[in-house]
Parts: sequence; structure tokens; C-alpha cells
Amino acid sequence: MFNIVLFGPPGAGKGTQAAKLVETYNLVHLSTGDILRAEMKKNSPLGQEVKSLIEKGELVPDKIVIELIRENLNNNKTAAGFIFDGFPRTVEQAKSLDEMLQKESLNIALMTTLEVEEEELIARILLRGQSSGRADDSDQAIIKNRIKVYNEQTAPVAEYYRQQGKHVSIGNMGTIENTFSQLKTHIDKVK
Ligand code: ADP
Repeated sequence: MFNIVLFGPPGAGKGTQAAKLVETYNLVHLSTGDILRAEMKKNSPLGQEVKSLIEKGELVPDKIVIELIRENLNNNKTAAGFIFDGFPRTVEQAKSLDEMLQKESLNIALMTTLEVEEEELIARILLRGQSSGRADDSDQAIIKNRIKVYNEQTAPVAEYYRQQGKHVSIGNMGTIENTFSQLKTHIDKVK
């Protein structure tokens, strides 16, 4: 299996690039945001807890997210590999992911951060909110909180992978195609 982590702040374009990578490399896309929104729709007790956190722009507890990822990994044993999108978002999650993969003699080959300036992030998320219908994409205060949470709790995850020699940084202020071609170059080097 070939596994990569797509990293970067909210609105950096991870979902867009993940969709293109799925087509090119035949990988399974695991977005914790999508998985959590599916849980929200079930309106279960877990779904309600998740909804209240997402709508404030806060992180969902590690324990919940890690369990959901574990289930998804177990349900995709025959996959060619995974693109992790929006996960890991804390160092604790990154360590758990490494443990889960190591048990199956697997690993993360590469972690790529998509870098976008803050003002552009806010503009992109507000634009997405017009069609996504996501409450957390339609309110400037919530968006700013998500960026703050990213800077405080999530950004250290890049250092975790840098120490393993697996981290690359890619500017994503240009076109979708340009970023995709840079991503492919990095992936093809380690694949
Ligand atoms: P974005 O990348 O635009 O923030 P996501 O769909 O990845 O959108 O995430 C939406 C929300 O879901 C986050 O703000 C957070 O509340 C929750 N979430 C997603 N992934 C995680 C995670 N790995 N750990 C904790 N919370 C998460």
C-alpha cells in the first residue's frame, strides 16, 4: 500500500487535489471532515456531539476521530493505498495513525502541506460556503477560529513528519493544475 497525508489549513484545497490524486493513483480518499459530516447526518448522540463542535470550528476529540479512521482502514483492506485528508490534525492523531499502520507493516510515504495565505483561505471558504451549505463555511468568526485552531493544534503535525524526513511544502496560490503537477512530482519520487 502507498499512503499519503494531504495537509494544510482549512480551505487550502486538499479536497480538490485529493479528488485528482484518486483518479491518477487509484487510492482511497479518507476525509475525516466527510466522515464526520456523514456521522452528523445520522443525528445519533455521537453525530450531535460532532455537530456542536464542527459548528464552532473546534476539533472533534482525538478518540472519536481515531476510531472512525480505524473502522475505515479495516473496511478497505484491499485498497492500493490511502490519501488522508484532514487527518491527522493533532500530533496524538499522527502517532495513532503510525501505530495502526505499523501493525499491518504499512507506513506513510509522504506528507504534503498546501500553503495558502490567510486572506485567500477566508475568501475561498466563504465562496465554497455559498454552494456547500456548510454552516462552518458561511461565518467569518467560525472560519477564523478554524484557522486559529489549525495554527495552534494542527500545524505541529508538520514537524512530526519533518522529523521523519517525509514532509514537503507546496504553495497553492496558483492554479489547480500547477499544484497537482508539483504533487505528482513529489509522489513519483517516493512511489
Ligand atoms: P476544512 O479542511 O475546510 O477545515 P474539513 O472537512 O476537513 O474542512 O473539517 C471540518 C471540521 O471537521 C473541522 O473544522 C473539525 O471540526 C472537524 N474535523 C475534521 N477532521 C478532524 C480531525 N482529524 N480531528 C478533529 N476534528 C476534525
